[in-house]
Amino acid sequence: PSPRADGQPVALDALLQERFGISSFRPWQREAIEALLGDARRVLVVAPTGGGKSLCYQVPAVALPGTALVLSPLISLMEDQVRALEARGIPATFFASTLPREEGSRRMSALRRGAYKIVYAAPERLAYEGFLAAIAESRLSLVAVDEAHCIVQWGHDFRPEYLRIGEALQRLAPPRVLACTATATLEAREEIIRRLGWRPAEGGGGEAQERGAPLPAPRVILRGFARPNLHLEVREVGGPKDAARFTGRALVEALGRARAPEGAGIVYAATRKGTEKLADALRGEGWRAEAYHAGLAPEVRARISGAFAERALHVVVATNAFGMGIDRADVRVVVHAQPPSSIEAYYQEVGRAGRDGAPASGVLLFSPADIALRRRMCQLGSDGGDAAPEDAARAWQLFRELLRYVDARSCRHDFILRYFGDEAESLGGCGHCDVCGALAARSVSDPDTVERDSDTVRRALAGVARAKGAAGMQLVASMLVGESNERLRRLGLDRLSTHGVLAGQNHAEAMTVLRVLMANGWIDLTDSEFPVPLITPAGWRVMRGEVPPRVQLPRDLPKRRVRAA
Ligand code: ADP
Ligand code: ZN
Repeated sequence: PSPRADGQPVALDALLQERFGISSFRPWQREAIEALLGDARRVLVVAPTGGGKSLCYQVPAVALPGTALVLSPLISLMEDQVRALEARGIPATFFASTLPREEGSRRMSALRRGAYKIVYAAPERLAYEGFLAAIAESRLSLVAVDEAHCIVQWGHDFRPEYLRIGEALQRLAPPRVLACTATATLEAREEIIRRLGWRPAEGGGGEAQERGAPLPAPRVILRGFARPNLHLEVREVGGPKDAARFTGRALVEALGRARAPEGAGIVYAATRKGTEKLADALRGEGWRAEAYHAGLAPEVRARISGAFAERALHVVVATNAFGMGIDRADVRVVVHAQPPSSIEAYYQEVGRAGRDGAPASGVLLFSPADIALRRRMCQLGSDGGDAAPEDAARAWQLFRELLRYVDARSCRHDFILRYFGDEAESLGGCGHCDVCGALAARSVSDPDTVERDSDTVRRALAGVARAKGAAGMQLVASMLVGESNERLRRLGLDRLSTHGVLAGQNHAEAMTVLRVLMANGWIDLTDSEFPVPLITPAGWRVMRGEVPPRVQLPRDLPKRRVRAA
């Protein structure tokens, strides 16, 4: 009898221990496997690299009768996995163009005999009729699509071969499909689901309709993004000409933590020239530091990453070219000298700190001048020419999310988990970021400030709610601080009870408060010719006092005079 998730949950644990030598599932692994074996049958697992996604298809593949097909982009990874499975006595193989012809045919006959539990192949294989036919004739237990974001056409890792997968799924009609990725944006998730045919495109066929019976909605399991050992911090610094930045003072201070206890640091800079300058500055301060970027000769790059891995270097100052395959677990600090291109890029890069689980920190240095630099980078195509307008717009949109992160002044971890949709792991005011730290310190030294900031947030939200979309940000700010002018009068904003709720603050400060509200998703701008702010459902909850705002407003906001009642 085929094992059922609901019937025999214990059998999965025994299988994990006996066949894989692993003592227990991570909770989300069990969730994914049970969904796949149970009713969902179409499951997308989103978890960080190294999270343990392979088990989510390997365990069901072993538990179910028949053969599982795993589509994976890299031959070296397939080889590693097949070797590991064989070592555990699980019959597995892979198909690749690098195989000698006879070996390929031998594996094909074994596949037809049903000799394998797990068969790995690159999606290119799906173009071979012989291969597809052999798979179609075998008793297919499931299809797993590894690195599923390679199907996303605008993504960094797009592989045209991946577009074959949707069609192949339609033909093979496997009873279960699992897709895995570490790419967590909602947009990417939706495109994966659409291109796999799990949700038929408008008017199109799609796997579900081909099979007659409608499939249940696909399950998305997104977990494991929390990094509680990572202390996150954003620090505003001066512009590019600011000495503090380029003599590396802020940097050295941030890196100080890498020295004791022993450990390493990675500094990311936006430009090649930037990496050279910063590496120089750090060497001047007595660090063993090297610059690393794609403009260096391959042997120089290999030498640097080798030296870093062998602990001969303290610090590598790099563009985003550095990181793939760098698995030095004792990186204590990752500093971003400029903000990277997106929250995803940031979290991936900062995530290289503290892989050993010991405390580590990520410091993002930010200057308003970085916005213009990134704006120019967004407009450049990968070939150095102009980017297509829609690519530039998308890149800019992703960067603006990162600006929201900088602006939010609320718990950094919660912000990122919210962005990825992994709120289940929210730490609820973590204690491991600059904002939570400052809030905790202030609640001891000056408990009133915390309450005052919360009060300011709630009052500003009430103002936005009262304005009911009648005015843009500038006018709402004028209303909040209690200005009186013709435009306010004409819109009746001067007669609202919220006129002057932030009296005592100036217009710029009220704008800062509104930006904080926006960054936290408590208000949103309408997508119209003259965008106006509206309060969001999350904003209502904060306004009503159901959820504490837990933000740290800029310190230079003056204490608001309490208005006479
Ligand atoms: P991913 O595909 O998500 O990048 P892998 O599946 O390659 O990650 O797993 C990374 C490592 O974690 C592997 O060495 C794997 O054996 C280990 N691992 C996975 N799940 C567990 C678990 N439940 N307990 C302990 N180790 C695990
Ligand atoms: Zn926090």
